[in-house]
Amino acid sequence: MKASNYILPTTKENPSDAVIASHRLMIRAGLVRKSAAGLYHYLPMGLRILKKIERIVREEMDASGALEFELPILTPAEIWQESGRWNKMGREMFRQKDRHDMDYCLGPTHEEAFTTLLKPILKSYKDLPKNVYQIHTKFRDEIRPRFGVIRCREFLMKDAYSFHVDENSLDETYQLMRKTYRKIFTRCGLKTIPVQADSGNMGGSGSEEFMVISPVGEETLSICPACGYSGNVEKTPVIYNFGEGKIEIPPFEKVHTPDKKTIKEVADFLGVQESDTIKSVLLKADEKLNTAIFIRGDREINEVKLNNFLKTSELRPLTEDECLSLGLIPGFTGPILEKKENLKVLFDWSIDKNKAYVTGGNEPDYHIKNFVVFRDLASVPNTFDFGLAVESDPCPQCNKPLKLEKGIEVGHIFKLGDKYSKAFDVKVSAQSGKTITPLMGCYGIGLNRTMATIIEQCNDENGIFWPISVAPFEFSLVSITKIDEEKRKIEEIYEYLTNNGLEVFWDERDLGPGFKFKDSELIGFPIRITLGKNFFEKKEISILNRKNKMEINLNYHTNEDLKEELLKMKTQLYKELEA
Ligand code: ATP
Ligand code: MG
Repeated sequence: MKASNYILPTTKENPSDAVIASHRLMIRAGLVRKSAAGLYHYLPMGLRILKKIERIVREEMDASGALEFELPILTPAEIWQESGRWNKMGREMFRQKDRHDMDYCLGPTHEEAFTTLLKPILKSYKDLPKNVYQIHTKFRDEIRPRFGVIRCREFLMKDAYSFHVDENSLDETYQLMRKTYRKIFTRCGLKTIPVQADSGNMGGSGSEEFMVISPVGEETLSICPACGYSGNVEKTPVIYNFGEGKIEIPPFEKVHTPDKKTIKEVADFLGVQESDTIKSVLLKADEKLNTAIFIRGDREINEVKLNNFLKTSELRPLTEDECLSLGLIPGFTGPILEKKENLKVLFDWSIDKNKAYVTGGNEPDYHIKNFVVFRDLASVPNTFDFGLAVESDPCPQCNKPLKLEKGIEVGHIFKLGDKYSKAFDVKVSAQSGKTITPLMGCYGIGLNRTMATIIEQCNDENGIFWPISVAPFEFSLVSITKIDEEKRKIEEIYEYLTNNGLEVFWDERDLGPGFKFKDSELIGFPIRITLGKNFFEKKEISILNRKNKMEINLNYHTNEDLKEELLKMKTQLYKELEA
């Protein structure tokens, strides 16, 4: 490809709404342009990258035995009503009416569509297992589209859905997808770690997210450097190592704490640590269930764990009026409460039942000192894990300290169980002659997000350095001459390389060398070939490795030799991806 025939709107200016490297660089390198919030145009150079990622994903999915489909993006409301997600999805769904006033939505995901499609096709256990997928556009009206294509409203996803007769078969495909994802991301030059993720009310270890560690990630991961455990904090069990044995604690005592409502205020006022207090978190779940959760003062509630426990999906704080009508005093609520019909009281397992704590006195301006669960509650409650793991908490596997990191989710594998097959009443005949409801799994990868996270991992002060497998062109050729005869010689080399299967982007524009070098480094072609003065005077070709910035000089003999050298370099770069 010749630069003069191309559209290459590189810029020096950083877009004002770009706060992360990939967003800035995608715009500056002329890969994408913004259309509206969360909507991006792909320009030719950007599209080549996306297509290469797509090809890798498709090759590996096909190699795993999955079958490619293509379903309409526009999906009828009925199927969403049948699964119950028409209402549940809320405003994230782009809804649409047709001329007959029928409801549709632009698919944010395709469990419903694939399940209804396959229901009449899969009839017997002999038809299973099957894994079906597509690589297609998804729409999600995200509350906060941001970080360029990392969280956008229209994006490309590979979504796969598998169908099984039993748990073993589901697990086999799940493990195969896990391996396939590792291959896909390795081939893309992206370092990911699979972390255990929340699997909703299903429980078990049926969900993993493929994360790219990055300070701009929206997810928090807990990682154990000692044993390799990794989990999304949403899922990480919080471990407390309480001391043994009981110590004598004086009876509890009411203390006057005027206007001291927050844990910090109370702890400072009474001269204790926040971890020596128990706080109450008063919440409304799904607009119907009132809950008071008691948790150690320095700890926070993990909403995912709590929702799973309550089998709800949304939590909000109770308003002051709601608290008062339940007889709860905001800022002074403690565990010594009368049983109330319309209030669920829960205890987090951060609370050591043998230890003395400061807690609310259930009376304005009063707290209680030396409260002990075992001693001071009429019936000792069970405690559950509702807490959010923090840095240095013990690893749930080996008890060594955990590290917390930020991460971006690029892929997700998930055991759905019979959620959708049941909702759509999918039945296949079993070997025994009876009918069974198949189990399902689903497996997603965001392609645009993958592209952006590769840039997050592969950029420096000059721009992007693409892994060779997804680079828009493997080679850039910068020519520096104004002499026609020399131009012709370079054209001959360019033609030779291109005709022999090398992907070369030839910058033959009538621009200064500095400008052309900068562009090639900004866009991030892995190998740059420079043909200028040294070539015509000394037959020397300079070759730059974009990533490590090493430049070597090659003596030019024949086009054939040059091609062989370049192929060697290319092979070497592919090898490095696997290391
Ligand atoms: P997130 O928690 O980031 O919103 P999700 O859990 O909603 O992600 P899934 O429904 O599992 O994501 O979708 C599968 C993949 O699609 C994700 O791993 C991600 O790579 C991609 N993806 C999801 N939402 C977006 C988005 N708004 N923009 C770009 N890619 C997305
Ligand atoms: Mg989402």
